[in-house]
Amino acid sequence: MAMPDGLTQKKMTRQEVQEINPAKFEKTEDMSNLTFLNEASVLHNLRQRYYKMMIYTYSGLFCVFINPYKMLPIYTDSVAQMYVNKRRAEMPPHLFAAADEAFRNMMQDKENQSMLITGESGAGKTENTKKVIAYFAMIGAGPKRAAEAGAADKQKKAVRFKDLGEVSLENQVVQANPAIEAFGNGATVRNYNSSRFGKFIRIHFSRKGQLVGGDIEYYLLEKSRVIKQAPGERSYHIFYQLMTQKKLRDRYQLEEDIRQYKFVSQAEISVPGMDDKEEWHATDNAFDVMGFSDREKDDIYKLCAAIMHFGNSTFKQKPRDEQAEVDNMDGPTKASRLFGVDPDLFTLALTRPKIKVGAEWVQKGQNVQQVDWAVGALSKAIYARMFTWLIKRINQTLRANLEDSAFYIGVLDIAGFEIFDRNSFEQLWINFVNEKLQQFFNHHMFVLEQEEYQREGIEWTFIDFGLDLQTCIELIEKPLGIVSMLDEECIVPKATDMTYVDKLVTQHLGKHPNFQKAKPPKGKQAEAHFAIVHYAGTVRYNAEQWLDKNKDPLNDSAVACLKTCDKSSLLSIIWEDYITDYDREEAEKRGKQEGRKKGKSASFMTVSTMYRESLNNLMSMLHTTHPHFIRCIIPNEKKTSGLIDAPLVLNQLTCNGVLEGIRICRKGFPNRLTFSEFRYRYAILAADEASDKEPNNASKKMLARLSKENQINVDNYKVGKTKVFFRAGMLAKMEDMRDEAI
Ligand code: ADP
Ligand code: MG
Repeated sequence: MAMPDGLTQKKMTRQEVQEINPAKFEKTEDMSNLTFLNEASVLHNLRQRYYKMMIYTYSGLFCVFINPYKMLPIYTDSVAQMYVNKRRAEMPPHLFAAADEAFRNMMQDKENQSMLITGESGAGKTENTKKVIAYFAMIGAGPKRAAEAGAADKQKKAVRFKDLGEVSLENQVVQANPAIEAFGNGATVRNYNSSRFGKFIRIHFSRKGQLVGGDIEYYLLEKSRVIKQAPGERSYHIFYQLMTQKKLRDRYQLEEDIRQYKFVSQAEISVPGMDDKEEWHATDNAFDVMGFSDREKDDIYKLCAAIMHFGNSTFKQKPRDEQAEVDNMDGPTKASRLFGVDPDLFTLALTRPKIKVGAEWVQKGQNVQQVDWAVGALSKAIYARMFTWLIKRINQTLRANLEDSAFYIGVLDIAGFEIFDRNSFEQLWINFVNEKLQQFFNHHMFVLEQEEYQREGIEWTFIDFGLDLQTCIELIEKPLGIVSMLDEECIVPKATDMTYVDKLVTQHLGKHPNFQKAKPPKGKQAEAHFAIVHYAGTVRYNAEQWLDKNKDPLNDSAVACLKTCDKSSLLSIIWEDYITDYDREEAEKRGKQEGRKKGKSASFMTVSTMYRESLNNLMSMLHTTHPHFIRCIIPNEKKTSGLIDAPLVLNQLTCNGVLEGIRICRKGFPNRLTFSEFRYRYAILAADEASDKEPNNASKKMLARLSKENQINVDNYKVGKTKVFFRAGMLAKMEDMRDEAI
């Protein structure tokens, strides 16, 4: 047989072939209505819709989005207005429909809501997040919004800033984003504006549904980007934005050419389609809208510049000597000046840190490698702490009027499941978060289905599919699990990444179903030490540097030196909760117990401990909300509109739980018709029975006859109080029978 271009012929067994849906389901808006719920039809439906730029599609509880990679006129104010107060079925699928549903649920059920937006990098999570927040800001600002800005209620909420005139809360909620993106986003190969952190933004409303404020929580900022960039990538936008401003360069003694600064110029320094100068103004303006003072702005920019200078520190050591010395004081001097500390003391702390051995302070030698490492670690820590402060500061503005808050809608924008060639500590955490989120989804679906079956009085033992993920979650989070054993190993003297792996293997291999040996690398695959069976697939993890990544040690002496800076400066504020050995000794000396009162100091808290805490907070918060799920899909890896890479899309449908949702759906009775609908449509199959006046009785009699005549099987349907429920595929059979009868 002649094949069309680009296609090849392949023989399949009957079992491998998936059934095709009746034509009336072509480009269906909700795939849970499909007669045949299989992977092929889901892909087909999404693809056909995507070709027509219908980028949102429902799949039961999910709203699936495929990145259009071009501006579509579907996010304008007038489109947004069309979705206000509309039910799902009244309008084409849209993010705004999901958002409006969340808002209506909140108002009706007086319950907090959440929108969970997940997907691979580049899939469109952040763009959807911004749009959904703008939508909430719009409806929260009242029906006629901007034109009514003078209305009494709003006047109170508006804040006056120097040259900006009045700034509405609505505007602040929207402008928080550019301020954060400049510091938390950078260009990657996959996405020129990739968020390198996860966030949960809560939009708070009053009892009347008026916007009263917001707050932001963030997760897992990628610190390594501050000092290191892979080919084709760039560090955080703010560095490049800053460099476009001559007055700032002069102020912070920066050269014009960014290539002079090795921390931020290892790969790309510009991004297609991005004007850093313009973006700097947007960032700076966002800070103004958020009410940052000139001092605060200066402090932030200054720390960024200081990190760039600090990155130019070079050290040398004499042959056969193990002690590093400063090679060129230029970088450290400029950095120290901006930090507000003494350059000589600072470099001394770097090259000869003082440590406490028993009751004595001793100077410890450092080789070049160790000092370089300390410079990197400190730079990353300063940046990450500044980011934490930035979010706090923004929250301070957004939370100014929260006393009127009655409910919130939380929007989660977080990276989806990651399976790379080489998977490390960062992937373990992001995959663990996703495992938890998927469990949350499964559980939610189970609860909803079960409630409906109970309401309808259907006998049915439903399985909690959330439990399917429990074994994997336990492997990671329970005592003696992957994370707690890592924490343990971090306090064992002389422990290494490999002693950790050995202990893991002894503990779990052959004993825990989700723990596996990493098969030896085949082809290009990177080396790995163990594998975890996640719901989305088996991931091979490489445990190198996990101890360091988890301990995240800093040069305590250098921190102590940084803490000698001006107490009112941002640098001082960001280190406040970090207790150095000097602080501890000082506290003891003063006879106080400050050190102990504060409990574990930051330096003793492992990274995992902090991650675990924020993940637990997120999960318990989500459990108090009614969730709405948006699954974003990247159509291809070329950032091109209109092109579907089928294997890529199918893989995401697996990882993001859309197919899992369908699988669960198929275990139950996904299709349901009210008695009147059922009688009306299938009367032709049992005309006498259908003539009963009561739709309820009529339906039951019709079903009884059809099963008696062996046309349908009693296992394939259930009769509830108001509806007939069908197993997946049954309605198709009914339709065929109907077609034949006509
Ligand atoms: P993610 O946050 O999932 O990594 P982004 O939201 O940053 O992805 O989207 C990546 C890029 O895809 C955007 O910079 C934009 O070019 C494009 N994009 C995403 N969503 C849309 C959309 N709704 N309309 C047009 N382009 C989009
Ligand atoms: Mg993003």
